[in-house]
Amino acid sequence: MIDTAAITHNLERVRTFAPRAKVMAVIKADGYGHSMTLAANALSSADEFAVTGLDDVRKLRAHGVQKPITMLSSRFDVSDLNGMSANAVRPVIYDHEQLDLLFDVDDAAALDIWLKIDTGMGRLGLTLDDAHSLTNRLLRQRGINSISAMTHLANADNPQHPNNQTQIDQFLTFASSYSFRELSILNSAGTLAYAEHAQQYVRPGVMLYGVSPQHGVTAERLGLKAAMTFKSELISVKRLPAGSPIGYGGAYTLDTGSRIGVIACGYADGYPRHAPSGTLVLVNDVFVPIIGRVSMDLMTVDLGEMRAAVGDEVILWGSQNPIEEVAKSAGTIAYELLCSITERVERVVI
Ligand SMILES: *Cc1c(COP(=O)(O)O)cnc(C)c1O
Repeated sequence: MIDTAAITHNLERVRTFAPRAKVMAVIKADGYGHSMTLAANALSSADEFAVTGLDDVRKLRAHGVQKPITMLSSRFDVSDLNGMSANAVRPVIYDHEQLDLLFDVDDAAALDIWLKIDTGMGRLGLTLDDAHSLTNRLLRQRGINSISAMTHLANADNPQHPNNQTQIDQFLTFASSYSFRELSILNSAGTLAYAEHAQQYVRPGVMLYGVSPQHGVTAERLGLKAAMTFKSELISVKRLPAGSPIGYGGAYTLDTGSRIGVIACGYADGYPRHAPSGTLVLVNDVFVPIIGRVSMDLMTVDLGEMRAAVGDEVILWGSQNPIEEVAKSAGTIAYELLCSITERVERVVI
């Protein structure tokens, strides 16, 4: 179930954390698994959208979205570049291969671009040296209307990490030497921890969907509402005696006789196979542990003596059963779980 009002609410929360910055709402990866077009509708008051590449842009334009769109991480060719400004698309330039194309764009292209600077993420972005040697030339380049600059923090989810401030300082020192149109540094976690460096644009993603970007801080405490509730139901309930092995490999054995429930959900739906016995799901408002291995279509819970019957709803994650907890238990991050829900799971939009 996708609660679009929660996404809209979370954008308002972002604005309270960074009240003077524009918001580039990140809706890549199909809106973090919530449906990109649904997210775009819910985020209609964002200042700009950010997606991965041209496929996403085309989908959004076909959906009627007119807002500017930044393309975070994709290759393109000169013919793509020439049409971008007319289409209100801002490419992120992160590599020499793309820079070379910029020198070949039409005089009239009037491109608005972002330069991505690698200040310590070690992934996409021009090194500071390269950026210094190229920026003046780009600023004089015909066919380029404006240049903005962004960087990305590698440790924003850990505000204590000293590299955050180092990255911010290096980026701001670099940027102060040039006349960039806009600057942007902060993703969700960064927006919470370093709002004073919000600059012209913040780039929240995960927090828009109601997930806390910081370790040890709940979404509820941040005033965020979970947009996704992942639900299933019990398709079998039965009593088994002490010593019964549960599921493939008998990886779990009942200590005492108990009632077990079988849930119509497995890793083929997007529930993490690595979630160990003890990971909690909600059945009739009671937390119960999963037991045994998660299989393709099914998983098993220990219901104990609680009231439960075939057909009862199971909440695998959602506002009452935070996805952050499920992710922690399964040794992953909420981002991955959000993106893992598969096609066959019915989307109900409220
Ligand atoms: C995905 C992404 C974001 C959003 O990150 P969250 O942690 O989801 O807020 C921001 N900036 C860039 C460059 C990204 O790729």
